[in-house]
Amino acid sequence: MIVRTAAALGALLIATAARAAAPTASPLPPPADQALARDLLAELVGIDTVHRSGTLKAAEAIQARLKAAGFADGDISLLTIPEHPTQAQLVVRMRAKAPKAKPILWICHLDVVEAKREDWTVDPFTLTEKDGWFYGRGSQDMKSEDAAVLESLIRLKREGFTPDRDLIVAFTSDEESGDANGPEWLLKTHRDLIDAGLVINPDAGGGSIKDGKRLAYGIQTSEKVYVTFRAEATDKGGHSSVPEPNNPIYRLAEALGKVAAYRFPVATTPTTRSWFAAQSAYAEGQEAADMLAMSKEPTDMAAAERLSQRPSTAPRLRTTCVATEIAGGHAENALPQRAYASIQCRMIPLDTEAGVKAQLEKAIADPQVKLTTIAPATPAPDSPPDPALFARIAKVVASEWPGVKVIPHMDLGASDSIFTRAAGIPSYGLSAVWGDVDDNRAHGRDERIRVDRYYEGVEFAYRIMKELGRGK
Ligand SMILES: [Zn+2]
Repeated sequence: MIVRTAAALGALLIATAARAAAPTASPLPPPADQALARDLLAELVGIDTVHRSGTLKAAEAIQARLKAAGFADGDISLLTIPEHPTQAQLVVRMRAKAPKAKPILWICHLDVVEAKREDWTVDPFTLTEKDGWFYGRGSQDMKSEDAAVLESLIRLKREGFTPDRDLIVAFTSDEESGDANGPEWLLKTHRDLIDAGLVINPDAGGGSIKDGKRLAYGIQTSEKVYVTFRAEATDKGGHSSVPEPNNPIYRLAEALGKVAAYRFPVATTPTTRSWFAAQSAYAEGQEAADMLAMSKEPTDMAAAERLSQRPSTAPRLRTTCVATEIAGGHAENALPQRAYASIQCRMIPLDTEAGVKAQLEKAIADPQVKLTTIAPATPAPDSPPDPALFARIAKVVASEWPGVKVIPHMDLGASDSIFTRAAGIPSYGLSAVWGDVDDNRAHGRDERIRVDRYYEGVEFAYRIMKELGRGK
């Protein structure tokens, strides 16, 4: 599995707000649950789970917490991938008495991106509270979400809550990098353990704050699909004193120029159309009118053209491909025998790998420049913006953050939901902890979240779990 962008970044791209709800005091968990939530976050941040270290220690820590909270041994599974013994998955089930529907599965990755002590002003693997912020690797992506989900499970258990359908949580490995992706492996080898009618992924979606104001709450229903091609030109080579017209470096350069100029056709989905409709309320003038136009079919090409000029909306309108690496030649005084480049694409879920490859080949229009796939796509369809489910989520959002609008959205980055969607399970990104559009440090140095927003998030995670666990 290729290194993928944190889906959380996509949520932060939602809108540049002109009008938005002013933050109000939100309900918080009882003091004892706040203390537990802090303790769980400190414990998880304190365990280094970068790819090299693995997730086994964190999974064991969660297992111990769940046992202490009264979950039965038979409802907790700690599984390691045989070829990767330090990459562990911890799956826990809260049972219904007489299930009214298929289970709901939460997927929560435990791994984090590398963090070097010398780059940070604090120790990345110690939770540090400073000036109203929690610092630490994973504080944003996504140990705060892991801790919030874990705290909710423990709290519901203590309160004697029995859901109407089984609630399953899988804490997993290798979302950020590596070839031991937890959800992918669990679906392949332990489908029965995690099979569900619905997936909630707190690593995506959610709300962001801009200039002190809350923007909309995004429910991630889809994401752009990741695929990477290699473009390669070759020749027999020779002495550089005798240049020949078929020079692979020139051919490749020309091909890449054509890729840069090529624009894929505009393609909207139910998710992006309703996203544009909702975002139009935060825009003004021509931009607002263009966004409203994009919420309708057939596509208004003049509106699409104007929105294509804006970095915040352009990638939502179409598949994009960009050259990301280049190499070629073997000596400064020899004609090159080979030149190649990586072309990284993010596809609208309607597009296919074969279709995008064919369009690139047509744009390049040089049979001597060969395209091959180096990171194949995992096709993942849109999860439908189901009105009944959205109404229930909106109710919980309103209870925690009154006045905040709920909208579906497509992530530009990728999340583990591609695996559950590809397996046919509708999957929704619902992160609990709000971030700041202008202070996003996921994957970066001095990663942090605001302390008050963490506790609000813990309360939200609890309310969502309780609401969705009721009825069917
Ligand atoms: Zn993440």
